[in-house]
Amino acid sequence: MKTISVLDKNTIDKIAAGEVIERPSSIVKELVENAIDAGSNAVTVEIKDGGTTLVRITDNGEGIAPSEVKKAFMRHATSKITKAEDLFGITSLGFRGEALSSIAAVCQVELITKTAGELTGVRYVIEGGEEKTPEPEEIGAPEGTTFKVRNVFYNTPVRRKFLKSPQTEAGYINDLMERLALSHPEVSFKFINNNQNRLHTSGNSNLKDIIYGIYGREITANLVEVHGEAPFGTLTGYIGKPIISRGNRNYENYFINGRYIRSSIISKAIEDAYKNFMMQHKYPFTVLHFQLDGDLLDVNVHPTKMELRFSDQEGMYRLVYETVRNALVGREMIPDVHVGK
Ligand code: ADP
Ligand code: MG
Repeated sequence: MKTISVLDKNTIDKIAAGEVIERPSSIVKELVENAIDAGSNAVTVEIKDGGTTLVRITDNGEGIAPSEVKKAFMRHATSKITKAEDLFGITSLGFRGEALSSIAAVCQVELITKTAGELTGVRYVIEGGEEKTPEPEEIGAPEGTTFKVRNVFYNTPVRRKFLKSPQTEAGYINDLMERLALSHPEVSFKFINNNQNRLHTSGNSNLKDIIYGIYGREITANLVEVHGEAPFGTLTGYIGKPIISRGNRNYENYFINGRYIRSSIISKAIEDAYKNFMMQHKYPFTVLHFQLDGDLLDVNVHPTKMELRFSDQEGMYRLVYETVRNALVGREMIPDVHVGK
């Protein structure tokens, strides 16, 4: 006879962690999104060995009150929604309440946090889902939050085997940091890999400065600024002249309400708009920011929130196609000879 057992909490958390935390870059993504949701305007990300031995993220956001610290690590614990209706019109990057419990299930985590309302900060340590500090301890700390995450998958060796080399994992995190910087020009990001400074944005809200810092002169000198409007939202940003097109889609960046996503509709609209300007099998450079009415979006499609659904797909296609097309038509699509910022 087969017996059926109900899994214990620790096992459930480890299984759930598999959906959210695939590799060190997932940890960085979740913790930086939390920092942004907390209203930070400066976020520092430090990694060692591709993030496999250490990911440290420091923000200057609102912090977590001592009474809330333990709760934050419980599954489905979130301060961002309280009921299902809140899922529509969501403005935060997080809402599933799964990141901290997942990270704590498969790593060794130390949290130090302080809110504006408290005189001192608190420290809390949780490893493999087990509390090492049964109660958060008082500690002096600046306002904001620091997560120190060590030894990802230390208690799930099979998953650890799927990690790539530290260089490759660091590369994933570097790509992610660039996208995060592009997605929030109003936040100053610092990324340090094995004690080396890799990225530093000013947080002055100037998207072109960030593009310059990441992609350099040639691309920045060949951008066209775009602006489009629809009843459901606006589209702003930069597109590359066809001369700086690439052999793959990696340079097609677009963000919806500050969230990096992939969307076949948006990609198709961009590529259709470029059709007569571009050689086959070339893809344009774009950095597009959409500000859309939240109640027309469903972001709750996948745990990593990389995909979303639009209620007006036709309208989305038209907004992108027309905005990009209008920017390209009637322009001299030759490279700028005046290379500069
Ligand atoms: P979610 O982001 O979906 O709410 P998480 O598990 O990522 O779930 O975080 C749980 C809660 O912990 C958040 O809702 C938030 O209240 C709090 N929190 C996490 N990180 C931070 C941070 N850097 N600053 C302030 N609060 C935080
Ligand atoms: Mg979160």
